[in-house]
Amino acid sequence: MFSSTTQPSTQLPSPLQVIEPDWRYAQDYRITVKRDDLIHPIISGNKWRKLRHLDENLLPNIKGAVASFGGGYSNHLHALSFCCKQHGLHNIAFIRGNYTGNETPMIKDLLHWGTHIVYLSKVDYSQRDCGEYLTTLSRRYDIEILIPEGGSHTEHLAGLQGLHNEFTEPVDHLILPVASGGTLAGLAVSKGNIRNLLGIAVLKGQDYLESLVTRLVAEHRVNTPYTISHEYCLRGYAKSTPELDRFCIDTENQLGLPVEPVYSGKVLMALKALIENRAFTPGSTIAFLHTGGLQGAR
Ligand SMILES: *Cc1c(COP(=O)(O)O)cnc(C)c1O
Repeated sequence: MFSSTTQPSTQLPSPLQVIEPDWRYAQDYRITVKRDDLIHPIISGNKWRKLRHLDENLLPNIKGAVASFGGGYSNHLHALSFCCKQHGLHNIAFIRGNYTGNETPMIKDLLHWGTHIVYLSKVDYSQRDCGEYLTTLSRRYDIEILIPEGGSHTEHLAGLQGLHNEFTEPVDHLILPVASGGTLAGLAVSKGNIRNLLGIAVLKGQDYLESLVTRLVAEHRVNTPYTISHEYCLRGYAKSTPELDRFCIDTENQLGLPVEPVYSGKVLMALKALIENRAFTPGSTIAFLHTGGLQGAR
């Protein structure tokens, strides 16, 4: 499904859009947006890049079920479900919480695409990385491939090299959201025209996110330096503030850029603050990675 011959709707390389926001000092930088949100009409941008490797190498040979974990709005479960439907694979989604009778638009899509949904209590869900628990689940549901939450797994990092390759000119800083760390880790182990990576934590996770990324890059080399900033996660994951909501609406109106408060809006608001605080050397080129995620905001 990822090859452009069979899927004319896949847009690669994703467009690079120059923006000129009216923020203080913004005119001192060249700011672009890497529009990964436009890669595919259904699969969220960075999930597309993470699943790509899996898609090309593993999915065509699988006989059993492909399963993964996520919340009720998960872009990852959504992308995986669609991908499995395309390959005619049995997909199982382990969802945190019980949405019976109160299905989100994301869950409705999964049901429509034939995914088997299993609601897990918060306690069960918290065991999603525990080996013993995973073995039990795998046996009970005849799972062949169990993908970690967010689709972040060392095997999937290779898919991010493609993003480096799409930058034909040097970029001093690429700014992007960090949740399960896979996108940042994938970009860190690969290399190209991006000189520095600045991950913005979208959840409260000082140290935790660092360890996730460190674990993901462990067997590889860091080829592109990265830092993670924790100052802009606001109230935590998927929690907006009136200021952030307002910022998302203004951005859409002024820059013609659709953003949502969970990932892209939060990161862009962080970028605005960084620029206004002169965090970057004037004259730098800055790219903002729009990872998609608009389905989750429905
Ligand atoms: C999953 C997701 C992220 C977070 O990426 P990680 O690799 O999990 O850190 C960012 N943006 C969007 C739109 C996502 O769906």
